[in-house]
Amino acid sequence: MLDKLEKLAEELNLNDITVRTEDVIFAIQGKGDLKNNFPIPDCENCVEKCCPAGVAVSLFDVARFIDLGLDNFIAGKFEGYVELFLSEDGGSNVKLSRPYMSSETKLCVFQNEEKKCSIYENRPLICRAFPLAIRIDDDRNRLAIWMGGCQSYKITSNKEAFYQLLDSAVQDYNEKVTANSLLMYLRNALRENGFGKYMEDEWKILIDYNKKNKELERQVKDFQQVVERFRMPQDINSILNRMQSENEWLKERLIHLENEMKQQSERAHAIISDLTKQISSEYRKLIETLIQNEKEKSRGFWKR
Ligand code: SF4
Ligand code: SF4
Repeated sequence: MLDKLEKLAEELNLNDITVRTEDVIFAIQGKGDLKNNFPIPDCENCVEKCCPAGVAVSLFDVARFIDLGLDNFIAGKFEGYVELFLSEDGGSNVKLSRPYMSSETKLCVFQNEEKKCSIYENRPLICRAFPLAIRIDDDRNRLAIWMGGCQSYKITSNKEAFYQLLDSAVQDYNEKVTANSLLMYLRNALRENGFGKYMEDEWKILIDYNKKNKELERQVKDFQQVVERFRMPQDINSILNRMQSENEWLKERLIHLENEMKQQSERAHAIISDLTKQISSEYRKLIETLIQNEKEKSRGFWKR
């Protein structure tokens, strides 16, 4: 099956989207200088182990598994066409379903009792490359990144082991982008060559498309309505008219309030002036009474 896939891939001539090891830029920090010291997973002494159930495999891994007679451990299908490798941490990848190694436990079906891989020589490429992976950044640089999930690594001078990991990551990347192209352009040929079992049915894709289109149509209609509402001239005119009349009303109200304040202030002045007059006349009377009293007192004194 692998040779059939490779033959189909040749038809597509994908040299411009595949990656060569020498083109890769390392985006790995704090893990050796990558000239004399390199990070290598220390699987022998690892207690974490990174072999959960359901690790997804590529179309080429599927072909290798079929060739090895291990395909009864593969479940799932390729759903959707495109898988992107655009972010450094894989965060904005379009996640599509891919076939995976099925297991009835939480661990990979191929992990044996000694917690070792029972198909080590034939393990899928993702297992060979882990935790290295290739991603493309905004400038279309091919980056080799160190994914999370493997804390148990050691820094060694073993350049060969590190480049073996890198070659596996590059091969895994190339096989995935090739598979995506095959799943996009040569679906019938893939079916004819026995891969139909691992592919989504065409009618399901059409139904999904239809659903997505309907949803998109609805969103476009909603959006158009909003745009129309803003664009309708009578709307703008009525808004302007309303604002203008509100403005007039505010002006009138302001003049009215100013007049009212003026009248109030005049009234207050008049009241204050009346009060002042009253107080001064009372005050004068009081002083006169006091003087009169004093005079009376002094007259009495002389009489005695
Ligand atoms: S976590 Fe890292 S060191 Fe441990 S088994 Fe996985 S790859 Fe190896
Ligand atoms: S195939 Fe082997 S290396 Fe890969 S997840 Fe399973 S046990 Fe681990």
